[in-house]
Amino acid sequence: MGLGATAAVTVLPSFACAPQPGNKNYDGKKLNIALCGLGNYAGILADGFASSQYCRLAGIVTGTPAKAATWKKKYNIPAANIYDYQNFDTIAGNRDIDLVYIVLPNSMHAAFVIRAAKAGKHVITEKPMATSVKDCEEMITACKEANVQLAVGYRLHYEPYNMEMKRLGQEKVFGPVRLMETSLGYKVDDPNQWRLHKAMSGGGPLMNLGVYCLQASRYIMGEEPVAVTAQFNPVVNKALFSEVEASITWQLDFPSGAVCNSTSSYTANIDRLFAAADNGFFELAPAISYGPFKGRTSKGELNFPTINQQAAQMDGIGKLLLENKPLPSHITGEEGLKDMRIMAAIYESANTGKKVSLV
Ligand code: NAD
Repeated sequence: MGLGATAAVTVLPSFACAPQPGNKNYDGKKLNIALCGLGNYAGILADGFASSQYCRLAGIVTGTPAKAATWKKKYNIPAANIYDYQNFDTIAGNRDIDLVYIVLPNSMHAAFVIRAAKAGKHVITEKPMATSVKDCEEMITACKEANVQLAVGYRLHYEPYNMEMKRLGQEKVFGPVRLMETSLGYKVDDPNQWRLHKAMSGGGPLMNLGVYCLQASRYIMGEEPVAVTAQFNPVVNKALFSEVEASITWQLDFPSGAVCNSTSSYTANIDRLFAAADNGFFELAPAISYGPFKGRTSKGELNFPTINQQAAQMDGIGKLLLENKPLPSHITGEEGLKDMRIMAAIYESANTGKKVSLV
């Protein structure tokens, strides 16, 4: 039996042991969620709700009447739970909605998180949390003042292969980690895509994909980086990448002396993470996408179940909110803010050519 088969038992997310329907601790109630922004990822989330035990898609917020009609029919959404961007604030009076999940372009996250919080709803916002440190801080403050919980859609914290990487790193199963590589890239070549427009995206592949690489290096180490250097990579199609970087590479220094080298790119397909420790290595490729993932250590193949990441994330969050418990710190707004601060430092280093301290 390989390491993976043994380890699989230890890394199943806590919700896997949660009270099942029929269990005396579970009364069958589900958390009612409204999706705000009905684009590509909202569709993937909506499919995740279908197999979620603790959450239900109960409402939608959209600027497109035709989408409202399609979603109403497809997901059986009551007319009273359908909002547009103008009347969204009236959701405050709707007791049928517990949480609003913001799946809009990055620059819109802050305004809608703050509006949802003011309406008294818990909020999940997609990654990256926002487009600036200041926005992240204001989102956190708004949620605190409204006494609602704020999560970032960091789905990999519910994914068994990634949580095994975290365990192997943080528990030093192969000794202290010395060197990591975490990279994610896919080609973006549609000039109309909002991801290529800085006002909407806040930046290029670093904001969209690099945030996962950053997360992985931080959860493998269980340490906060102390300094960063970064470089923009050469741009071939200057017209396409006139507003955001096409590709960026950065190096994080960790307090224990470990180093992580990462690239996020809109010009190359890459999806991998690798960690070299004193007594062995562990790696995933694919590592960050929706899977199925593939991983191994210096002792052999890893073998974990392929899960619906969106359903797992919703159940992990939904169960805790139904029990009125705090969300784990690794998915909260404070965590999103940490990532945003580091991404700002990565851009600063790439722009200045200097190492930027994070302490
Ligand atoms: P998308 O372009 O498919 O959808 C964006 C939605 O926002 C659309 O419904 C669009 O109509 C709406 N919208 C409202 N105002 C808009 C405007 N001014 N310009 C453009 N669109 C506008 O994008 P997406 O891929 O669904 O991404 C949405 C968010 O989800 C982003 O923050 C992205 O980073 C995140 N995301 C997360 C994952 C993940 O795995 N966690 C995957 C994909 C996207």
